[in-house]
Amino acid sequence: MTLIDTRTPNPKSFISGSTGDWEIVIGMEVHAQVTSQSKLFSGSSTEFGNPPNANVSFIDAAMPGMLPTINEECVRQAVRTGLGLKAAINKRSVFDRKNYFYPDLPQGYQISQFKDPIVGEGKVMLDMPDGSIEIGIERLHLEQDAGKSIHDQHPNMSFVDLNRSGVALMEIVSKPDLRSSEEAKEYLSKLRTILRYLGTCDGNMEQGSMRADVNVSVRKPGGAFGTRCEIKNVNSIRFAGQAIEYEARRQIDILEDGGSIDQETRLFDPKLGETRSMRSKEEAHDYRYFPDPDLLPLEFDDAFIAMLAKDLPELPDAKKARFITDYGVTPYDAMVLTLDRETADYFESVVSFGGTKRDGKAVANMLNADVAAFANSEGLAIWETHLKPSQIAGIVDLVANGTISSKGAKDLLQIVITEEPAGDPAAIVESRGLKQVTDLGAIEAIIDDIIAANPDQVAKVLAKPTMIGWFVGQAMKASGGKANPQALNDLMKKKLGIE
Ligand code: ADP
Ligand code: MG
Repeated sequence: MTLIDTRTPNPKSFISGSTGDWEIVIGMEVHAQVTSQSKLFSGSSTEFGNPPNANVSFIDAAMPGMLPTINEECVRQAVRTGLGLKAAINKRSVFDRKNYFYPDLPQGYQISQFKDPIVGEGKVMLDMPDGSIEIGIERLHLEQDAGKSIHDQHPNMSFVDLNRSGVALMEIVSKPDLRSSEEAKEYLSKLRTILRYLGTCDGNMEQGSMRADVNVSVRKPGGAFGTRCEIKNVNSIRFAGQAIEYEARRQIDILEDGGSIDQETRLFDPKLGETRSMRSKEEAHDYRYFPDPDLLPLEFDDAFIAMLAKDLPELPDAKKARFITDYGVTPYDAMVLTLDRETADYFESVVSFGGTKRDGKAVANMLNADVAAFANSEGLAIWETHLKPSQIAGIVDLVANGTISSKGAKDLLQIVITEEPAGDPAAIVESRGLKQVTDLGAIEAIIDDIIAANPDQVAKVLAKPTMIGWFVGQAMKASGGKANPQALNDLMKKKLGIE
């Protein structure tokens, strides 16, 4: 690929060495397992967690004479993903054989796409603290996964599990547009969000359904691209960040010592937090790529692409923009609420529960603060907790109509969380006497008592009006925290003669 620099150097992401500042350059190759019941070229199941070699057909085991047949669902998923990445869909693409030997690759070659991939250039937008940045997508191609070799079950035997052999992967290749480990982590997380919205990959990195090969080089800011190393099969976003930090530092140290970088393939060791050399970089010609004679080129017409485009769900960027305009929530809240589709749906069900439209900002505040804190403490997403949209809506309504204060809402939420998982907020307020007192007569009586009992304090507050906080605090306490804070404040000022 021709490398073009699309980014303006950002000094905030520079890292310093003994010879001055350095800039990290990162490009990613993400392998995303296609969500599909069966494999790319056979009818075998793709179910995770089955006993070894349970999901294997003669095709996956490469028995002589077996012929691959393309799984159309995988093709549709790849095109949908391309559309979600705002990418050019290639109406003609070709499957190639990538030849290499490995015990877990019984065919002796991997069916992949080389010169003519199914999807061409696209882009992914990232929200970074300094603003939004665009990361270029170079291509997306379809390929088969390999099996798995198992060496640690027996001291002198190795085993091969072909369950993954032939499972469809999308390899999504970014341009070298990322400039820090933060951007790289955000890229992986955004890509995963998009894939999950589309339903084309479950994005589960622990189960290996999304893995990243991370290409890292360093250079003097704005200079020519340096020689890169490729860190293979990183299986968590956090590890990707650690691998990049370690690798950049390693390369800078070598260059500053007058050495040069060997282009090589490296592995990240999560226990040591280090990368180590695996092999020197292979070149495309080492694989003797050639079109697979068992498969015809893939060809689609405009109608096929248009049909898939029409059925795409609303994607995170569009949803976020709509939340900002339709509900008036802050860009930050909109971003958090659209991280996954279910949370976004949950937010919208709270806003419009029972057919009445609530203040989106009030709902966002409650969800992103106290509800999120509770969900996090349980290791769940908001929508996975026992809290029902109707309950959150109920609490928001009680604040909106002045029945409880925002402090009261926090207490009520805790009751709903811990004591009455199925409780109706309005009924709880009623039965426990949590209503805030807006009755001015009742508040006035409390204020009069406090003023009468504290003549010394009254003298002080008249000399120093900021002391009014003490009076308000006493009165709030006397009301059991139920006095309407605004009414209390206003009346207290009036009674003390402070403006
Ligand atoms: P290959 O397929 O041989 O690994 P590609 O040229 O297709 O090589 O690039 C693979 C990945 O490496 C892409 O994500 C690309 O953005 C990234 N990349 C290429 N050059 C550099 C570089 N100098 N520094 C960092 N990443 C790079
Ligand atoms: Mg590569």
